This record gives sequence, C-alpha cells and structure tokens, in this order.
Amino acid sequence: MSDLDVHSRLLNPHKCIVCETPLINRRQHSKTCISRCRTQLYRQKKENSVLVKFRLPLNVYTNLVIAVMSAGKGVDEHLQELLKREHA
Ligand SMILES: [Zn+2]
Repeated sequence: MSDLDVHSRLLNPHKCIVCETPLINRRQHSKTCISRCRTQLYRQKKENSVLVKFRLPLNVYTNLVIAVMSAGKGVDEHLQELLKREHA
C-alpha cells in the first residue's frame, strides 16, 4: 500500500458502493464517487422499491426531520434503517 493510499484511507475510509473506488474529498455521507455511479445506484433502488405516500402528525414529522438532518441522511434512508431494525 502506498503512502497515498494510507493517507486517503485515513482521510476517508469509504468506498463507492457501486465501483468500490475509494471516496476521497467527498462529503462524509457520500456513498458513490461520480454522478454515473449515483445514477446507477438510484436506478437500481428505484427498480427494487415502491413509492409510499403517507401522512404523519406534524410533531412526529418535525422530530423525524431533525433526526435525519443531524444524522446527515435522507428521510427514506433513515426510515429504511429503522424498519430494518424493527423487522430484523
Ligand atoms: Zn463509483
């Protein structure tokens, strides 16, 4: 492993989940490297999912948005993780 590899791993140990390229100089919660990988991932997710529309009480929604923002995630990602934990 070169010094550069070690350095980039220390900076950001994450890899693109599509092509496994180490993610350098990307924001902390990035999962993919370039827009092509992002698009590919989005398309995969879209094909294997359904769009759900539902109503929440305002205070529940507000708490949800605060939790999501502080975790630096998307609402859908956050809910999926909660549901996975619930039904694991
Ligand atoms: Zn990639």
